[in-house]
Amino acid sequence: MTSYDAIVIGGGHNGLVAATLLARSGRKVRLVETADTLGGAARTDEFAPGFRVSTAHILNRLHPDVIRQLDLAAHGLDTSAAPAPTTVLGDREGPVTLRSGYGDHVDGISPDEAKAWSELRALLLRQAGILKPFLTRRPPRLGKLSRADMSLLGGSALALRRLGKEDMREFLRMVLMNVADVADEHLTDDRLKGLLAFDATLGSHLGPRSPTSLLGLYYRLAGEAGGSVGGQTIPAGGMGAVINALARAAAAAGVEISTGANVTRIALEGGKAAGVTLGTGEELRAGTVVSAINPATTFLDLVGPRELDIAFVRKIGNIRMKGDAAKLHLALDTVPDFPGISDADRKGRLVIATSTDHVENAFNPAKYGEFSPEPVMEITLPSLSDPTLAPDGACVLSAVVQYAPYDLREGWETGKPKFLEAILATLEANAPGIRNTIRHSELLTPADIESRYRMPGGHWHHGELQADQMLFSRPVAGHSGYDTPVGGLYLCGAGSHPGGGISGVPGLNAARNILASER
Ligand SMILES: Cc1cc2nc3c(=O)[nH]c(=O)nc-3n(C[C@H](O)[C@H](O)[C@H](O)COP(=O)(O)OP(=O)(O)OC[C@H]3O[C@@H](n4cnc5c(N)ncnc54)[C@H](O)[C@@H]3O)c2cc1C
Repeated sequence: MTSYDAIVIGGGHNGLVAATLLARSGRKVRLVETADTLGGAARTDEFAPGFRVSTAHILNRLHPDVIRQLDLAAHGLDTSAAPAPTTVLGDREGPVTLRSGYGDHVDGISPDEAKAWSELRALLLRQAGILKPFLTRRPPRLGKLSRADMSLLGGSALALRRLGKEDMREFLRMVLMNVADVADEHLTDDRLKGLLAFDATLGSHLGPRSPTSLLGLYYRLAGEAGGSVGGQTIPAGGMGAVINALARAAAAAGVEISTGANVTRIALEGGKAAGVTLGTGEELRAGTVVSAINPATTFLDLVGPRELDIAFVRKIGNIRMKGDAAKLHLALDTVPDFPGISDADRKGRLVIATSTDHVENAFNPAKYGEFSPEPVMEITLPSLSDPTLAPDGACVLSAVVQYAPYDLREGWETGKPKFLEAILATLEANAPGIRNTIRHSELLTPADIESRYRMPGGHWHHGELQADQMLFSRPVAGHSGYDTPVGGLYLCGAGSHPGGGISGVPGLNAARNILASER
């Protein structure tokens, strides 16, 4: 039996961040990942001979503290890419393109609409800025506020005051609104409204008119990439390049990494974490066990309900985590032509969400267990930024498509070919001729995402990111600070605060919390 100071379960990007920071503090750390490759949903896999792609395909929130603290540049991460544009397709009026950090400048709209957009964008960025400091801190403990909690809350109150009376009132009015109403108050252009509706609801079981849907947009805009707030980049080498840099940082810090190592049990002694058991029967001992996988799997499967308080078990069992996002990968003979889109803009993000109604209508069937017959989607062509992802002259198309409910009423075996057909028809309408160039297609439904990445519900955030499952209530009320009711057992994956996306923040916060509590 081998002993460590800390064992990290799961080699997704958050597990890698937490393991590296713990190892750098002098601890002997072992990271165990069940797949043969590190990276979770951010790893780059071959999906057809010579064609590679990563399920998470756009970098828009890898936190600067993570990049800095882990020296990711020194470990090969290239952060020099300029922010990629977003183009909204699929409308008779032609495309709209947002440039730089979420539309510093927008092509394809009237001067009046450009002014309205610029005011709304500035307002949303100011408001998202108030929430930003909360991202990299454990949520304040209600009723037991520490000095750090007080300073965080004080800082936010100050940021609110600095907004001025009008802006402060506006923030308090808007914070729990839905994105559709906010867009209607400021904009007239359906394409811009469709984009906001899409971005606010991406990865969630929400339509743009669902209460509090604006929170998803704040979350998106609190991220940054390519040196700009709200920006995004398509990383060279795919997301796998980010994972490679994280893996190098972990190895340099002395983390012992095992892939193909499935954790089947978290061992407890005297009610405290004592180590883990692997599928092979091998036992590893450590007084600190850090779970970078889903909270429900951690407690209900690996610890076991018998070891836990019944009220806690009920809360964990009630976390909503049924995903609605599917992923399409196409191996194409040639680069598809989207009429009216320049070669440069084709390298960015292409969104098919032509209006609020388009997104809302796509969401409606999902409420009743049906997929969207007219889906909304974001498309990238990652091989244009990194030609090594496809054979010469060929192209990879990667699209996140909504809505695809995890529990499809007719079952995914029957529903998948029909949903693929609906997606391809939408693509053909926007890129005529594309169907004739398809060499291979791979559609991952939430059920496929669940089994491929061991993500229950196939959920983007390892648990819905809605008002009742955020901040103090993430993953569950009363246990939002990475530590858990089991002494020595910590959470550090997307299911903990602040949520999912390739940010590294849950891993960063958890490691900071462990280091502070074990000091
Ligand atoms: C369709 C889709 C598209 C997305 N697109 C984007 C995007 O473009 N940009 C973005 O920022 N985010 C995107 N996301 C979200 C992002 O992928 C996730 O939020 C992120 O991967 C979560 O990272 P993580 O490290 O917390 O967990 P994961 O990436 O889920 O990694 C967890 C790891 O733990 C391992 N594991 C599980 N159980 C065990 C066990 N018992 N023993 C050992 N190992 C185990 C898994 O194999 C996995 O490697 C997308 C998500 C989906 C579903």
